[in-house]
Amino acid sequence: MTPNRGLRPDDGVVEVESVSKLYPSTEGESTWALLDVSLSIRDGEFICAIGPSGCGKTTLLNLIAGFIEPTRGELRFDKAPITRPAPERGVVFQEYALFPWLTALRNVEFGLKMRGMAKVERSERAREALQLVGLEDAAGRYPFELSGGMRQRVAVARALVNHPRILLMDEPFAAVDALTRASLQTELLRIWEEIGITIFFITHNIEEAVYLGDRIVVMSPNPGQIQKIVNVEIARPRNRSDLEFGQLYATVNGIFHQQGGVVQ
Ligand code: ADP
Repeated sequence: MTPNRGLRPDDGVVEVESVSKLYPSTEGESTWALLDVSLSIRDGEFICAIGPSGCGKTTLLNLIAGFIEPTRGELRFDKAPITRPAPERGVVFQEYALFPWLTALRNVEFGLKMRGMAKVERSERAREALQLVGLEDAAGRYPFELSGGMRQRVAVARALVNHPRILLMDEPFAAVDALTRASLQTELLRIWEEIGITIFFITHNIEEAVYLGDRIVVMSPNPGQIQKIVNVEIARPRNRSDLEFGQLYATVNGIFHQQGGVVQ
């Protein structure tokens, strides 16, 4: 390690440094899901990762979450190596992944219970998280009594209840209809601004990335690499019908076409 690395002004809350990930295969070619990827995620930024299937987006998220280890390179959170999952790095998946036999409140509390937190405190924290996502009145409802959008808000509350510094989101709104998706995006931006969290957000959807992100990391497959990082310098709240929104959409779309990617 370079002795003065921690003093560099551009150090991010998450540092991905020359990271490669190889998934060995018993038959045929092994896959470099990521090859020599470096990325610095700044404290408080909303960063979107976009790219066609198989370009390593989920692998990158799993590495930052600490679910898997890199084959080469290093990942750090607040300058400390990432070696395992931790409450400071919350994860929200595309599938709601809620326990169907638990109420919304109990689903949100679940992780705290596993960590041995006392009942009164965890219940208070869970109510606070549900309130943050606007679901305080649905605390006693079971997942089957909630709409898809509400279930995904419970999943967000379940990550927020741990008071994470960064939220890692893997296509979290891909399974809901367009209207619900738009309202979840607005909600997420409100929460992001309210609590000043950092968000790493994977999407297939260029419009979603341009609407949400401070920066868009465009990735390409075979091997998984960062093709370009696009700054989104459009004032918030953003309007999808503004000229500059359309222009940036076209820029990102153009980068996709260069690599023959799938556009949605
Ligand atoms: P994305 O999220 O962009 O679709 P992934 O990170 O899921 O990309 O996958 C990147 C590449 O790694 C793909 O070729 C995929 O098939 C491969 N891959 C992902 N996970 C595994 C795994 N557990 N074992 C073997 N190969 C994998």
